[in-house]
Amino acid sequence: MEASGFRCERCGAPLDVSPETIVAVCPYCGYPNHLSGNLKTEDIYIVPSLDKNAIAQAFWKMVEKDFDLKRMKGELEIVDIEGKYAPYWAGRVHVEGKVRYMVREEECESYTDSEGNTETRCHTVERHYTERVNETLRLMGSARRQVGEFGVRDMVKHYSKTNPAGKRLLDLGEGEWERVKLEILNTEMDEVQAKLMMHEDAIDVIRNRFDAKSDKIEEFDVRADEPEGLRLLLLPMWTVYYKHENSIFHAVFAGWDGKRVASVEPMPVWRRIQYLSGAVFGLLIGAAMGMGGSGWAFIGLILGSAISWHFGSKVLEGQRVERSGGILGDFVGGLKR
Ligand SMILES: [Zn+2]
Repeated sequence: MEASGFRCERCGAPLDVSPETIVAVCPYCGYPNHLSGNLKTEDIYIVPSLDKNAIAQAFWKMVEKDFDLKRMKGELEIVDIEGKYAPYWAGRVHVEGKVRYMVREEECESYTDSEGNTETRCHTVERHYTERVNETLRLMGSARRQVGEFGVRDMVKHYSKTNPAGKRLLDLGEGEWERVKLEILNTEMDEVQAKLMMHEDAIDVIRNRFDAKSDKIEEFDVRADEPEGLRLLLLPMWTVYYKHENSIFHAVFAGWDGKRVASVEPMPVWRRIQYLSGAVFGLLIGAAMGMGGSGWAFIGLILGSAISWHFGSKVLEGQRVERSGGILGDFVGGLKR
């Protein structure tokens, strides 16, 4: 991006900012320059990072541990290693209320007739439950607008699992900043927006929880309080770009412990063949079941095409995406911080 004319308040270095930027941390001295919003500097925390060499080692360790990559080890070459700090909002939301839901359960009874034969009869019953909700959720989400940035969301889950210690950006001495020297992605979401998202996501977290354990939510009366204890967390994130047969792949590592959080990896030829046979298998299932009868035909076709699609799409890509966590929402509940 072009220099925008903004300069660091402390050292005068030019700052790279966009119209969305809330906070721009100076790449030279580490001073957080506030451009809009009213975030206090004492609420910005930074998690220290490993250095580039350690990340290169972490990459080769990942290769060793991966069944497919290990076999291509000789053909892999690191092209570039890029470290960044990505900003995240973290906070607490208290939720309270009541949820009434229905679960279908199988109920079985055994009858013994006069001749001593036992027969078991089962039928489905609808059971109704009411539960109170009263808890505080810890939520966290990216403070960036580009949701597509690879690995940004995957960091959240790993953070909540490992809970690394952060320190206030204010308390980072200049010597320490010298060692950090990573690009810090600009914060583009202010507290007001972050609070709105947390508020919505808190309700979603609770709703999803009841969705998962019920057949139907009959009454959902849960309110979320104003989010509290908001802080901006700068998390170190490293991307290793590597080459395999003229294609570039990448893997994202958490800077505090060097764990791979997400990656796009080459797929070896024999693995592609394996997936392709999976696709053929799926079509065969579809066809075989299609011959079986009306009800099965439908299920068979769906199942078959789902299997084919699953494997087929993987072959087309010639690559696979690995993630340490599951699929994430913008904010994830249940953090320990
Ligand atoms: Zn500066």
